[in-house]
This record gives sequence, structure tokens and C-alpha cells, in this order.
Amino acid sequence: MLIADQDSSVIVVDATPFHPVDHTWPDQPGDSGTITLGDTRLDVSEAVMAALSDEGEFAVADEIPVKRGAEGWTWLVGHRVDGGIPASVAAGGSVTLSVDADRRAGLSRGHTACHLASLALDAAVADLWRKEIGVDPLGNPDFEGRANQTSRIHPDGSVDEYRLGKSLRKAGFDSAGFADSFAEREARINEVLAGWVASGGESRIEVDGPSIVDRRTWRCTLPEGEVGFLCGGTHVRSLTEFSSITVALDLSDPQLLVMTTTAGPA
Ligand SMILES: [Zn+2]
Repeated sequence: MLIADQDSSVIVVDATPFHPVDHTWPDQPGDSGTITLGDTRLDVSEAVMAALSDEGEFAVADEIPVKRGAEGWTWLVGHRVDGGIPASVAAGGSVTLSVDADRRAGLSRGHTACHLASLALDAAVADLWRKEIGVDPLGNPDFEGRANQTSRIHPDGSVDEYRLGKSLRKAGFDSAGFADSFAEREARINEVLAGWVASGGESRIEVDGPSIVDRRTWRCTLPEGEVGFLCGGTHVRSLTEFSSITVALDLSDPQLLVMTTTAGPA
């Protein structure tokens, strides 16, 4: 299927190795790479979600009017290429798809590092909760689930923003205590992450089916036990793929914690 407008075109194929950016929670960028057919090579700038409604409406990325996986839509991966599509690439033809493997590997390290950093953050602020709240997969109060506002993954890292406003204080979080002990908390997170990297545990994804919207669970073996949660992204296969994972915390706006995570490839 080929859909073109002036600036870019989107190609949909039967099956693809490209991982798209999720239009509902766009934390991990879509894969880039190439599509080739004979002598024609098209550069895919980014893989995106695409959806076809039962009524025949086709929508791409931000234009999809419903949440990922909504009923009444067939869910697809769109391959965005700049400009138009040459006549040699026609609907129904066979093409070869190739993902930029280095970039994908960097994004997978960035995504796994992002999840591990959030678990280490939960652990490092666990004593600051004055009320009972839900727990994360390691049994610590789920600071991530309560306060995370945005998560942006890039090759070998991520940036997460946490809202430390009134509603978090009302939920029982000691924001003042956090601000006072900020440097020690950051050091504690980095200590925990170094231990996890050194443990070299397994990391994997479980999928319920072959579609891009089938339920996917990330699982990782840590010294404390196995953790897992729903996640549509890509991940490393083992923590031995890291030489290090470190975070830097920024609280220049006292209402907003910014955690920048950096992964070193092994
Ligand atoms: Zn995830």
C-alpha cells in the first residue's frame, strides 16, 4: 500500500522488521533504514504507526484518531520516506527491508536503561513516602507511575520528566526531603545501576502475538528478582550489553525533576 502527499510518503508491507514510534506514548523513536526493490533504494526516515478503519479510513502517526490497539481498526507499521515514491515501486511488489541496526541497538540500550533507571529511582526515594501507594515490580513505592510525565528515549540514553507538584505531596511524597538529599539520592541510583549492570542478567520481551498491537511485556533478571512490565518498545537481550548506566538529576525547577540517563555500550 502506498500513500503519498507532497513532503513524504508512507509504505506499508505485509511483514516488517521495523519498529514504529507509538503515537499514543511516543517514548521510543521509530526505526530508520532502507527499502530496496531492484536498483531502487528508498531511505526510511522513521517507522510510524498506521491504521486502517473498518470503514476504510487510513491514518498515519499523529493523525490516527484513536488509541493504539483500538477495536475497529487494523494496525500496521508505516515506513515514511521523503518525497514521492518512484513508479518502479508499485503496490503488490516485493521489497527488501533493512533496519539501521546500529541505531536500533542504541535505542534498545536506551530503552532498557530508561526502565532500569526508573526502578533505581523508585528504590532511591522509597523512604520519602509518608503514605501507602501502589508498588513497582521490585515492591518499592511506585514514584515512576505517580510522577512520570514524559519519557524520551534516544540512542544510548533517555530523558524523563517527573512532576513534583502539590498532587504528589498530597499523595504523601516528601518533596522537601527529596530536595534536601538530592545529591545522595543521585549517588544511590548510580550505585544501584552499577550493581545491576555488573550482575549481567537476562533481558527479554514476551509477545502475545505477531501484530504490532499485541501485548508485549519486558522482563529482566536483577539480583533482587525478576522484574517485568508492559512495554511496547525494544530492549537489549542481556545486561552484559552495557558497560555502564548512569543518571544525572536536575531540580533547577523545584516542581520538575529531570532525570537524564546515559548508557555505555559494552
Ligand atoms: Zn518501555
